[in-house]
Amino acid sequence: MKIQRFEFNLFGVNTYIIYDADSHEAAVVDPGMTDARECEAIDSFISSNSLTIKYLINTHMHIDHLFGDEYIAKKYGTGISASTDDSILSERIAEQARMFHLRTDMPDSLNVDMPLHDGDRLMLGAEPIDVLAVPGHSPGSIALYCPESKFVITGDALFRNSIGRTDLPGGNYSQLISSITKKLMSLPPDTTVYPGHGPSTTIASELRHNPFL
Ligand SMILES: [Zn+2]
Repeated sequence: MKIQRFEFNLFGVNTYIIYDADSHEAAVVDPGMTDARECEAIDSFISSNSLTIKYLINTHMHIDHLFGDEYIAKKYGTGISASTDDSILSERIAEQARMFHLRTDMPDSLNVDMPLHDGDRLMLGAEPIDVLAVPGHSPGSIALYCPESKFVITGDALFRNSIGRTDLPGGNYSQLISSITKKLMSLPPDTTVYPGHGPSTTIASELRHNPFL
């Protein structure tokens, strides 16, 4: 599995495209595009690599991670895949926008077409993506683990030398620490971590250096 990172919008969200180089099947994770230039960056990568977008996956339903959901869903004919445990967020997009003083023409709510659960396995070509529930930053936060390619997309649960905030609606600090410890720190130490914001890291490095763990 290959992975491409884009950094979008004023929150600096990492949008990822993960794809199988043999079948050209791909998933867009947390599309954060807010303008034509950012959409063009995604579109040109998809077309120049001849990718077929099979999934649009949200690691969680905070507004900065889903600005581009409707664009991707419409343009590439994907539904939205995410945990429905974040419905308190996906049903309150306008409220989230107000909280961050954003003007947006997004709908008031987004519908999750394909609910994802802990232990689900998605396929791109012959390679699996395992869904890990990592609640705490939000109730429905998930991580996407590609065991054969040894990387995990952690959304806003785990960052390099940091962890996600838990002061937003539905956040829970002790639940987040438990999720990270049980679900992420138990992955092989040489697993690369691709977070929802900021640079990548590894499980080994976070075990050694993350001050929150
Ligand atoms: Zn978030």
